[in-house]
Amino acid sequence: MIDLHTHSCESDGTQTPRQVLQAAAAAGVRTVALTDHDTTAGWAQAAQAVDETDVALVRGIEISTRAATPDGGISVHLLAYLHDPEHPALLAELTRTRDDRVARARRMTERLAEDFPLTWDDVVAQTSHGATVGRPHLADALVAVGVVEHRDEAFATMLHPGAPYYVPHYAPDTADAVRAVLAAGGVPVMAHPRAGQRGRVVTEQTIAELATVGLAGLEADHRDHDAADRVRLRELAAELGLLVTGASDYHGAGKQNRLGEHTTDPAVLAEIEDRGTLEVLRPWSR
Ligand code: AMP
Ligand code: ZN
Ligand code: FE
Ligand code: FE
Repeated sequence: MIDLHTHSCESDGTQTPRQVLQAAAAAGVRTVALTDHDTTAGWAQAAQAVDETDVALVRGIEISTRAATPDGGISVHLLAYLHDPEHPALLAELTRTRDDRVARARRMTERLAEDFPLTWDDVVAQTSHGATVGRPHLADALVAVGVVEHRDEAFATMLHPGAPYYVPHYAPDTADAVRAVLAAGGVPVMAHPRAGQRGRVVTEQTIAELATVGLAGLEADHRDHDAADRVRLRELAAELGLLVTGASDYHGAGKQNRLGEHTTDPAVLAEIEDRGTLEVLRPWSR
């Protein structure tokens, strides 16, 4: 089994990178991509765990981007695989995004603090040192101070984009991010293109435009897509000459998603590895 989308505590997952690979081994996943939001800080530890766990590692990232629209833009998560993590243009964008995520979390905390007993220290207490800060950390802090029961409840209510506490953060334009990933030798794949319950999703026209810029694939098999979404994304990928991936979007205990619940065809991973500048890190036994 190949699972190309997971998160560790370097972003908003609840396990260390090593623990993610251990959990993959326990779930029977033989190849896993670590794709933390806007950071590659987990790669080194995950790489160390390859031989320990006998799980192959695809070094990846999930980049927060925004596709321009006349009314403010649509959030697009762009997975990237096997790129040079030091490429300056990409690195600059990621640093800017991570920095503004901290400012944004502070602003959301201030707004929430007007109505709930929440402080910035409560949020920091839920965040691993140096991690990419996101709404899941705010959710965990709201759970810790007893305002909600679990992350899902916070996301359904006060952390929802429609809520008065919501503040957006800086994110690069999606097409620019696709170009930066390609320049860094990576393979850009759009994460959960039809995950409509998170907010608005991009049109097929936008996906077609991104394909002309160099988008390489679509993550069709994901729990946030229904059967019709998956069928349509496969058709669209065939029309546009894009790869099709599937993955769990595992966040440890932070979400219901289970490792290996959706997987990617080995031939697709072979194509991704062929195009990427880095190798898949395989255990010595393979
Ligand atoms: P942010 O990027 O800070 O706006 O937060 C979005 C992140 O929150 C995404 O990566 C999701 O994985 C996560 N998320 C969205 N909905 C939920 C939920 N219901 N429970 C837990 N995590 C969620
Ligand atoms: Zn996440
Ligand atoms: Fe995502
Ligand atoms: Fe994700």
